[in-house]
Amino acid sequence: MSDTPRRKVTQQDAEAAVRTLIEWAGDDPEREGLLDTPGRVARAYKELFSGYDADPREYMARTFDEVGGYDELVVLRDIRVVSFCEHHMLPFLGRAHVGYLPNNRVVGISKLARVVHGFARRLQIQEKLTAEIAEAIQEILQPKGVGVVIESEHSCMTMRGVNTPGSRLTTSRLTGVVRDDPRTRQEFLEFVRDGRS
Ligand SMILES: [Zn+2]
Repeated sequence: MSDTPRRKVTQQDAEAAVRTLIEWAGDDPEREGLLDTPGRVARAYKELFSGYDADPREYMARTFDEVGGYDELVVLRDIRVVSFCEHHMLPFLGRAHVGYLPNNRVVGISKLARVVHGFARRLQIQEKLTAEIAEAIQEILQPKGVGVVIESEHSCMTMRGVNTPGSRLTTSRLTGVVRDDPRTRQEFLEFVRDGRS
């Protein structure tokens, strides 16, 4: 982020930019079928990049301290990932598996999914997305360890360029005992693997 304050981009500015891209693609933004497209694209962008509107850490503000002595891994598998690669602004789609070993503090499971969505709905690279999710959980819940694995297909690779449909990128970030304790690490990775079929 730059320090110089910039004029806030309006919906009209965004629509004008989309009209330019339509022309750049070789079409006529004034033809009937495309007249409402800039408005739709600008609104879709607002939704797809809504991650900039909030700090996903805040989704975990409410935690539960009474865990009834639960001291095993909590793993949420197959969280849908919809994000955009920051190099091409093309989507990468996949799923995230998120786990942590609680330290007397847990969070509602839907909140884990919201943290993933909050960081995904920005311009991203998958490696950074994976690390940001793990670090946010580590920072807020202060568990004994965190594991995040993301598998996704990058359309900048599968629909252009080297054109390799079906290839998926897997990234992981493990912290604390999930990284350092062989038993916990293996247990987490087995949870993740069991989700694949
Ligand atoms: Zn890309």
